[in-house]
Amino acid sequence: MSQNSYRARALAQIQAHRRQAQEQAKQRYQAAVASSEVLSRLSVELSRNALQTAQAAMSANAQKLGDLRKENAALLQKFDAALAKAGYTRKDFEPVYHCPACEDNGYFNGMVCTCLRDLEKKLAVETLSDRFPLQTCTFDAFCVDYYPKDVRAKMQKHFDFCRRYAEPFERRGYGILMCGETGLGKTHLSLAIAGKVMQQGYTVVYGSVGNLLARVEREHFSNGGSLDSMETLLSCDLLILDDLGTEFSSAFLNSALYNIINSRILSEKPTIISTNLSLQELGSRYSDRIVSRIVGSYELLQFEGRDIRILKKTGSPE
Ligand SMILES: [Zn+2]
Repeated sequence: MSQNSYRARALAQIQAHRRQAQEQAKQRYQAAVASSEVLSRLSVELSRNALQTAQAAMSANAQKLGDLRKENAALLQKFDAALAKAGYTRKDFEPVYHCPACEDNGYFNGMVCTCLRDLEKKLAVETLSDRFPLQTCTFDAFCVDYYPKDVRAKMQKHFDFCRRYAEPFERRGYGILMCGETGLGKTHLSLAIAGKVMQQGYTVVYGSVGNLLARVEREHFSNGGSLDSMETLLSCDLLILDDLGTEFSSAFLNSALYNIINSRILSEKPTIISTNLSLQELGSRYSDRIVSRIVGSYELLQFEGRDIRILKKTGSPE
């Protein structure tokens, strides 16, 4: 999806809320007026006064205009008094906007409002991220007892490290490379980090390397070379690349991957990569420059043990 359609979707959502807020304000006003005879009468007189004021303004009748304005002030005074008696103030009938700066217009002083930019970013991140089970993959749900005794202490250290990494999250920081075979908890721990980091209000993109790169490639060769997904991958606060090594390999994808990893290192944006490949296998699959970039600046966590998903089913860690 191109940036323009994120903008259009975000703008549509914001302005729909504006209409809703205005409609609700109108309904609150009508209900209040209908509840009091004095308010109904004054409301009719205020409408009549507004109409006559417009007519006097058009016919440039200064004398009449002055009289009508005085009448309006007097009517408003009575109206406010009647409102107060009924337990309201005029403020009760003002629309309640999500964004007071632009009043849910999306634009403010002719500029794109931060609320529009934030929503656009959120939509881009949501669209890009794979659906992931954040509720079940938490730190609390992680149990080192499922690991064989000889690696439990090491896994406990990894677990503690990930928890510290996630909270408080450092926006400028280093990445993590999680190596180890399938079913040893790499995805669980990276999702636990994602959940905690999101709770602190940061943007997190999570996805398999294959899916994310495929999207970048599609956009590169369509949309006139639009690079919106790439922009989101480079700018999000935390990027989690799952399953490195299972993706389709091509010169374009390898260079996109290098670009993502290298740019994020240069801008000090943290990335977490998980892979079933060993360092040696990574070295033979990817160019030296990718592997040396990762090894040189990421914290390496080696996951060991036996497939936890199987152990959980049989119920025996030994
Ligand atoms: Zn705004």
